[in-house]
Amino acid sequence: MLAAVFKGNGVLSVEEVPMPEIRDPKDVLIKVRAASICGSDLHILKVPPAQYGAPGTIMGHEFYGEVAEIGPEVTEFEVGEYVVVDNILKCHTCIDCKTGHDNLCLNAKIFGQTLPGGYAQYCVIPEAQLYHMPKDVPSWYAAQTEPLACVMNGMSKINATPDKKVLVYGAGPIGLIYTRVLKLYGVKNLAVAEMSPYRREYAEKCGAEFTVDPSKDNVKEVLQEKWGSGCDIAIDAVGVGSIFGEAVELLNGGGTLLIVGQNANAVSEVKPATIVRNELTVKGMYCSHNTFPTAIKLLQNPELGLEKFLTNKVELKDILTGIEALKKQEACRVVVYPNGFC
Ligand SMILES: [Zn+2]
Ligand SMILES: [Zn+2]
Repeated sequence: MLAAVFKGNGVLSVEEVPMPEIRDPKDVLIKVRAASICGSDLHILKVPPAQYGAPGTIMGHEFYGEVAEIGPEVTEFEVGEYVVVDNILKCHTCIDCKTGHDNLCLNAKIFGQTLPGGYAQYCVIPEAQLYHMPKDVPSWYAAQTEPLACVMNGMSKINATPDKKVLVYGAGPIGLIYTRVLKLYGVKNLAVAEMSPYRREYAEKCGAEFTVDPSKDNVKEVLQEKWGSGCDIAIDAVGVGSIFGEAVELLNGGGTLLIVGQNANAVSEVKPATIVRNELTVKGMYCSHNTFPTAIKLLQNPELGLEKFLTNKVELKDILTGIEALKKQEACRVVVYPNGFC
């Protein structure tokens, strides 16, 4: 079968690999229908990497497909059904797993990063990692379940009521999903800070009240002018170190900064006194946390409007074209089809 394999050193290679086989009686063989290219994938493909991926691994962690074969002890799924994959395989024994933080599992293995993922025609996933996906959800939409589940984990950490003023840093796929979900929550005072003019346009299409270019605009002055104050909630969906320090200076008293962008090499300069003086809360958010069911339900809400930033659909053989477009910031959301467009 065809797969996109991480070779280390920023190299992703599209090549023929052996078909995966069911080994455990609870395994499910999935024929992948669609997979999204994530910012994390670009981080893994950086030199030096900004996120870990094990060389030799088939990448792709945001994907769904059709059950092609089931192990003898699989009880919840049948051949022909559509399923979406929770990409984090937990150990269930470490301190984080035992204290209700299993998304932070110390021994986690991740499909598409350290275990074979969805940039392949087929993959084998344990039954316990799967959720049912209704067949009427469009394929590229179903491939947004994992990032939407991550966003819903983040939403559970901020009290984004309609009266709040919210600033989202970054109009990549995650920033734009936050933008759409915040709109759905009724947030009207919603700004997006983004350096790429191309992506600012998509932020506006997604319903941002206004956008700012943090490389040129004085964000604090713009917020003052538009809102008469700073923001109540800032969401860092970029993960460059400078945003931490900048964002805390923009928050109103009692405000919250949620950091979701992950870059292993980022370092920040922050004034702790600002956090003290304004009683700010700084939170991190990592992956999904029991939020797949919420995300699957939300995907079926016609108001969600994630199609507003779907820019590219590519077949698996052309995945590198999609990745290049994302690197050049000439694409927002790229969806990969390993078994032909569907
Ligand atoms: Zn992702
Ligand atoms: Zn664990």
